[in-house]
Amino acid sequence: MTPLERALRDRIKAEGPISVEAFMNACNEYYYATRDPLGAQGDFTTAPEISQMFGEMIGGALGDRWKRAGAPADAIYAELGPGRGTLAADALRIMRAAGFRGEVHLVETSPVLRKMQRKTVPDGQWHDSIDDLPARPLLLVANEFLDALPIRQHVGGVERRVVVSGGGLTFDRDGEVLETSPARDEAIRSVATCLAAKGGAAIVIDYGHERSAPGDTLQAVRGHRFVPVLADPGEQDLTAHVDFQAVAEAATDAGAAVTPVVAQGEWLIRLGIEARAQALARANPERANDLQITFERLTSRDQMGQLFKVIAIHSPDWPAPAGFA
Ligand code: SAH
Repeated sequence: MTPLERALRDRIKAEGPISVEAFMNACNEYYYATRDPLGAQGDFTTAPEISQMFGEMIGGALGDRWKRAGAPADAIYAELGPGRGTLAADALRIMRAAGFRGEVHLVETSPVLRKMQRKTVPDGQWHDSIDDLPARPLLLVANEFLDALPIRQHVGGVERRVVVSGGGLTFDRDGEVLETSPARDEAIRSVATCLAAKGGAAIVIDYGHERSAPGDTLQAVRGHRFVPVLADPGEQDLTAHVDFQAVAEAATDAGAAVTPVVAQGEWLIRLGIEARAQALARANPERANDLQITFERLTSRDQMGQLFKVIAIHSPDWPAPAGFA
């Protein structure tokens, strides 16, 4: 039994069944605090870890909007859940080349990942919560951040809970599941409120669906494989698909503007990732094959291109980032 499972069983004994939200929150807090989950040796791989082109496209899109908004000197680069800091380093290289001199603010709760980010993003400043970001124009990125925030599940109008039964953890009810995520709504509201008041643009990328729909999307991944969600609490990555309709609603409720939701592959191609791959291949002929494979991984419909979606949230006074129209 994992240390967290022992603690959760004690908690359920003392307090009664716990919500899926409380379970997911406890599992991910423990999981991220105790390891670097990324890469071949870890549990999963993300787009910025696949290719530098991913962060470069994002840096290009944000740098371009910043210039078009008059290049405000007080704008900051901000990222939610930056992982190893790879995306930030790739995006900032492009933004610095475009003249951006702003500060770098990273929202990260994991001490293990913060330590890695200090190497990849030496000029960063760290925060525990989005609400601690300075009130300035934001150029913000969140890649595979929202999927890790806890969701609630309801079956037939009743909140689904985790109980101890038959010697293990199980759900207290099954049936058609409706998912909501107050934690994600709150995160988006917080970003959108700052964008509406101070200006800026945020790019949010994750796997999920464009329209709210019923369905149980809670999943666990360990060693690059799907595993049962209630097994080995705290030792596997728990995520749920992102409801982009809910994201857009939370952002507009808080006074920000939103773009349409676009599939990742289509968005990267509109931003010119193909030309970037070709330029890199010309400069590094020995990597041409690799570049073709990573390009396919990020963009093709049967890999990350279609399941992953992108939305931009922006100040009504700023132009929408490129690639969404
Ligand atoms: N964006 C990175 C990493 C994605 S993994 C990439 O694309 O590679 C999720 C990231 O979110 C990790 O950095 C994790 O530590 C962080 N995280 C998870 N829950 C968080 C929370 N509640 N607050 C801040 N960061 C969180």
